Amino acid sequence: MLNKARLFTPGPAPLPERVRLAMAADSIHHRTPEFKAILGATQERLKALFGTGEPVLPLACSGSGAMTAAVHNLFSPGEEVIVVDAGKFGERWSRIAGERGLVAHSIKIEWGRAVRAADLEAAFEQCPQAKGVLVQISETSTGVLHPVRELVQVARRKNALLVADGISAVGLSPCSMDEWELDCLLTGSQKGLLLPPGLSLLAFSGRAWEKAAHVRPACHYFDLTGERAAILKGETRFTPAISLIVGLHESLTLFFEAGLDAVFRKQWALTRMTRRGVSCMGLDLFAKEHYAWGLTCLVLPAGLFAPRVIRAAAERHGAVFAGGQDHMSGSMVRIAHMGWVDWADMLGALHALADAIRFCGGYVPGNPYLEEALAAYHAALEAPLGTE
Ligand SMILES: *Cc1c(COP(=O)(O)O)cnc(C)c1O
Repeated sequence: MLNKARLFTPGPAPLPERVRLAMAADSIHHRTPEFKAILGATQERLKALFGTGEPVLPLACSGSGAMTAAVHNLFSPGEEVIVVDAGKFGERWSRIAGERGLVAHSIKIEWGRAVRAADLEAAFEQCPQAKGVLVQISETSTGVLHPVRELVQVARRKNALLVADGISAVGLSPCSMDEWELDCLLTGSQKGLLLPPGLSLLAFSGRAWEKAAHVRPACHYFDLTGERAAILKGETRFTPAISLIVGLHESLTLFFEAGLDAVFRKQWALTRMTRRGVSCMGLDLFAKEHYAWGLTCLVLPAGLFAPRVIRAAAERHGAVFAGGQDHMSGSMVRIAHMGWVDWADMLGALHALADAIRFCGGYVPGNPYLEEALAAYHAALEAPLGTE
């Protein structure tokens, strides 16, 4: 009642009022010049956001649908792929590849660590025939940011396609598809795009479209070659997620009014701020070196049960955090800083975390983390992007 419910979850994330109001309008029909104009305008902005000259396909499904569509359109049953499995979402790539009948070789990476180019080199020695590398840019179950640009170099030498799940990266940290030479970049609406769930976006490189021309997707709905032909005519094959695309038009307007550089700088600053605050509380950051810009994962000291701390933060402060997955579910708290959040929300999140830990019997030192976190935020706004 007295607290606003604030989502600090890695999807869904809070929405700007402008986007909510845009989506509140009544439906317009999708085969009208009015909708075509909106779809066309979002195409131009999506290409800029993805950093590609290729069309960006809007699909009416959550992010996992786009992952499925990518695998089904790029690879035929029996082909080999290499999967970077560094957490829950890497595991999902393996599962999707397996169900498509691909031979998936997983590079198992300890949770909390990023894959290295050398790991990928080694995997190619084991399976030189691999036609693709499936990876997350940001592994949302651990908060790790993989060095995808380095992986691309390896994949390119081996003539394999680099397929990047950017669901918790697009709109949050730079990932420029053409410049990075990614062959597929995909994302979902509810993470970095200031939208509710239900829309995913996917782009292929020219190389990927050439490969896709020789692959027959086993599924009528996710025939991306057909979807590409439609978008080039300013249409979608099926009824699109009309309200979400209207919302996307508004959220991309917000992005480009601010400028992408400013968007990424803010994300970097919020990341530095949250990490600094968490460290000053004496808590363990899970991703040590290569960390994502959309969420911060921390491990509680022994004796504190994460689900209890998370419940206390929600009940006492309206601050909704996410828990860890699998073996981390008892000890990890994931604090997202994605969507329509700013420094004040994150200060609130830090305070809610500290208070919830104390409430559950843990120790958090006095107050300086608030000042330290703010200082880190302001320092990050001044320093060159990506430096500490
Ligand atoms: C959220 C997420 C997914 C799953 O997306 P859904 O929209 O829930 O299907 C996949 N990969 C990553 C990296 C994510 O963050």
